[in-house]
Amino acid sequence: MISTEELLDAIRGQVLLGEPMKEHTALKIGGTVDFYVDPLDREDLCRAVALFEARSLPYMLIGRGSNLLVDDDGVRGAVIVTSRALGKYSIRKNTLTTGAGVPLPVIAEKTFALSLGGLEMLQGIPGTVGGAIAMNAGAHGQEVSSVVSRVEILANGKPQVISREEIVFGYRYSSLEGCVILGAEMKLERFSNAERDRRDRLRREALQRRSISQPLSWPNAGSVFRNPSPEENPSGLSAGQMIDACGLKGLCRGGAMISESHANFIVNTGDARAADVMELICVAKERVWKMFGVSLELEVRLLGFEKNCC
Ligand SMILES: Cc1cc2nc3c(=O)[nH]c(=O)nc-3n(C[C@H](O)[C@H](O)[C@H](O)COP(=O)(O)OP(=O)(O)OC[C@H]3O[C@@H](n4cnc5c(N)ncnc54)[C@H](O)[C@@H]3O)c2cc1C
Repeated sequence: MISTEELLDAIRGQVLLGEPMKEHTALKIGGTVDFYVDPLDREDLCRAVALFEARSLPYMLIGRGSNLLVDDDGVRGAVIVTSRALGKYSIRKNTLTTGAGVPLPVIAEKTFALSLGGLEMLQGIPGTVGGAIAMNAGAHGQEVSSVVSRVEILANGKPQVISREEIVFGYRYSSLEGCVILGAEMKLERFSNAERDRRDRLRREALQRRSISQPLSWPNAGSVFRNPSPEENPSGLSAGQMIDACGLKGLCRGGAMISESHANFIVNTGDARAADVMELICVAKERVWKMFGVSLELEVRLLGFEKNCC
């Protein structure tokens, strides 16, 4: 175990005790975490990780909490947030070197402005670089994995650079989930002025489609379920289309609702609890299984839950 005094002495950044996770998740849901750690810089973050590992205290890194459902009973151990400690980036020629805490929309916008392609379609994804690499975030035909050339992780207390070839990426999957991602190098493609107009049009159209199809005015965590592969799902329908076909749009449990605009989104209409969201998840899974014989799998990451309800 670790005493609060010891932790406060060791970490130069901010340490909050019993911090409500709903303040740090896009869904605005979640009970308290024992220690919420916002390290001052990279060295401070590495020190926090080393301390937690030495004391066998469970910890988890989070970015902007845009893909998290946190239990109402909270999280035992520590949550380490990366935005301040790992929040710097630089661009040289066509190479982006970025800390894991940098927001994806920031680098997507900046690199596009410099006529560097590869991230521009990801501008609407509200996570950090670390979360995006851990999840292999993607949209509109682009995935983070297609530009990553190297990733720096913390392994056995030491920073270690691993090359793209050593990492397994799949659909919303990377072999780095569960690691401590410190940062990454990405190789981008320089495009011409003529190409710029075409890409800009595609980028704007994608952002507009999002604003129309996604319930962005309510707190949410993006797509709740992964889209099943064609082998798993001969109907070819997306998770959202199947949930919609089951007539579940607008279904409420407590303060949570299956979005009326996008059935793969669950929104917090004000005072939703994680238990409400979990009930909707269970209903959607059960109904899709009955109607399509497809077992939906979660895309959102659960934090603090001892077991999945269904
Ligand atoms: C409105 C909306 C739209 C979205 N659209 C998309 C979309 O189009 N495509 C898509 O792929 N996703 C989408 N998402 C989901 C989400 O934004 C992405 O999964 C994003 O990559 C998560 O980043 P984050 O920093 O918020 O991670 P968090 O939600 O904080 O964490 C997610 C996972 O990443 C891990 N993680 C975070 N940082 C690190 C790190 N430094 N080291 C190791 N592990 C880390 C966490 O431990 C956790 O397992 C959307 C979400 C919202 C709310």
